[in-house]
Amino acid sequence: MHPTNRSAMNTDYQQIINQIAQEVAPLTHQGAVADYIPALAAVKPGRFAMAVKLADGREFTTGEALAPFSIQSISKLLTLTLFIQKQGLELGDRVGVEPSGNPFNSLVQLEYEGGKPRNPFINAGALVVTDGVMSHYGDAKSLILQTARKLSSNPALDYDQAVAASEKQTGFRNAALANFMKSYGNILNPVEEVLDTYFHQCSLAMSCTDLARMFFFLANEGVDQRGEVVTSPRETKRINALMMTCGTYDAVGDFAFRVGIPAKSGVGGGIVAVIPRQMSIAVWSPTLNQQGNSVAGSRALDLFTTYTRCSVF
Ligand code: GLU
Repeated sequence: MHPTNRSAMNTDYQQIINQIAQEVAPLTHQGAVADYIPALAAVKPGRFAMAVKLADGREFTTGEALAPFSIQSISKLLTLTLFIQKQGLELGDRVGVEPSGNPFNSLVQLEYEGGKPRNPFINAGALVVTDGVMSHYGDAKSLILQTARKLSSNPALDYDQAVAASEKQTGFRNAALANFMKSYGNILNPVEEVLDTYFHQCSLAMSCTDLARMFFFLANEGVDQRGEVVTSPRETKRINALMMTCGTYDAVGDFAFRVGIPAKSGVGGGIVAVIPRQMSIAVWSPTLNQQGNSVAGSRALDLFTTYTRCSVF
């Protein structure tokens, strides 16, 4: 018999995530760490962490939940939030809201579509968003860091300068994307400065605990863990919708099929996920599948939504 009512109060989240950590342990060696950014190639496989923050404020963690890692593309969620705070609900003519079906750093579609990226989470779209944040706020690099510190309530957070420098040295594709879009007039600030800001936001070093706290507002209709409004309920809905349709690279259909909640992944092996009005979740395990999603992290979220029977479906 399947119970029809699930009470968050009675669910033993600690037991569930401990069990998940055990079940995914063999997967933490499957796949490969991202090595196209040399500083990330040095991260050891076999690691795992998970943090859950419920709407009522309770937090549950398992594994290395305080270990910082490179958040990489998860930072695109933060810059998109900053962009929407100024830009409002419509992203305008500069970036679309459709899944791309292409690898996150692909150039092909961009030429067909006149320099307008499909969505804000592929690299091209994220570069446009970072450019927009720079235009709206000025010193975007320090704003992004201050906002991350505030939303996660962790004043010690910082950019990992070694990772930022490493990506700068090898970021030829991102440079190509940014220059290409500049030729269409879709990057307004100097390319060098946009890339520098982008490489820094990607280098933010954060733990699963930090991330579950930072993006709690997306599970709480836009109100952060300190009770402050970050985004309106409508803006929150749109950010979550973009995560659902574009947040996990060109594996987004498979991810929705298996996991069934909005999520944003990064090539550092982290994934942030949201169950609207219920909880924010962060997982980390550095080895990735072909599309760039953490193997053990994706499986952990699949098991989590299965065991708790919480998904948007
Ligand atoms: N900094 C990485 C890049 O631009 C981010 C990629 C990712 O995490 O998806 O290639």
